[in-house]
Amino acid sequence: MPRPIQATIHLDALRHNLQRCRAAAGDARVWAVVKANAYGHGIERAYPALRGADGFALLDLAEAERLRALGWRGPILLLEGCFEPRDLELCSRLNLWHVVHCDEQIDWLSQHKTHQPHRVFLKMNSGMNRLGFRPAAFRAAWTRLHALPQVAEVSLMTHFSDADGLRRGREGVLHQVEAFVRATRDLPGERSLCNSAATLRHALRLRLGDGGGALAADWVRAGIALYGSAPDHPAHAAADLDLQPTMTLASRLIAIQPVAAGETVGYGSAFTAPRDLRVGIVACGYADGYPRHASLSQAPGAPVLVRGVRTHLVGRVSMDMLAVDLTPVEAAGGPCHLGDEVVLWGRSGSGAVLPVDEVAQAAGTIAYELLCAVAARVPFAVD
Ligand code: PLP
Repeated sequence: MPRPIQATIHLDALRHNLQRCRAAAGDARVWAVVKANAYGHGIERAYPALRGADGFALLDLAEAERLRALGWRGPILLLEGCFEPRDLELCSRLNLWHVVHCDEQIDWLSQHKTHQPHRVFLKMNSGMNRLGFRPAAFRAAWTRLHALPQVAEVSLMTHFSDADGLRRGREGVLHQVEAFVRATRDLPGERSLCNSAATLRHALRLRLGDGGGALAADWVRAGIALYGSAPDHPAHAAADLDLQPTMTLASRLIAIQPVAAGETVGYGSAFTAPRDLRVGIVACGYADGYPRHASLSQAPGAPVLVRGVRTHLVGRVSMDMLAVDLTPVEAAGGPCHLGDEVVLWGRSGSGAVLPVDEVAQAAGTIAYELLCAVAARVPFAVD
């Protein structure tokens, strides 16, 4: 009997979320962002649902090769461009679009002997201060790039630092939009600005300025929304945004411990039972990618579904196990037994849903991190 833990990828939910992003993007085309192995879902697993996108955006030449091997002939965008000059050869062979964010990448292109001219997205640093040319340097970079015989098409992009922000979100986005519009006003080429948060919150509401069209522009780059997480959680829950969970991490009860009031549970004796409890032990720990910070102290830990009923962690998460309070579960449906279903996030067989965003919040992190971190030892299934 294998250890009872499994991650399941829900293709119907991926399809639904893609449609949701498409609807929010209006006329814009959708890059499905599948970096980090489709945010931990697995490119090969997610592909049948996401091939309805207009293109795929990722980081890695190896991931691009995997997509081509799956039969994808459409656009693929390397979001950080090439990491060294020799990447250009494979880029060209795989017919990739790639981001250019610094002068060195233009130098490499200018020296590249290519049989097929490159399509590039020139990236502006409009405030994120991570990758890209500052607005004042953008035009010079565009002029240099545009003059290269190695380059067939120059599109324009920027990335928002605060599209999901609660306080500064709208002003932050506006500030960056203004910088982008001002510096690119008379440059030709397609535009791409929005990530998931901007697509869902702003794409159709903000305008790009005189004749510039909606913020969604020509392409949006949707990542986390495809994977069923609300980019601005907790301001919105995924369900408020009509996003469905695409990954379920589920396990089972492997032991039940009656714990008397005053006794402690787990390492560090971090949790003391306030009354007599029945505690369920679950085959899932931090070595499976479950966040240890989901429960460190006496306070109720992260939520979890046992037999579809919501309860919470007690005591510290250990490498291979965690503990949950069975009280609400047994109150709802009678005694628990070994083998009962435990959903760490996602969908229960009963239809109940535990959004990954809530677990991430309890652990002081974001859903991106949890989805990407499911460990290699966890078997995956697709439904
Ligand atoms: N565009 C770029 C340049 C990114 O780096 C990312 C992800 O970090 C995305 C789009 C997708 O962002 P999100 O997952 O928030 O939609």
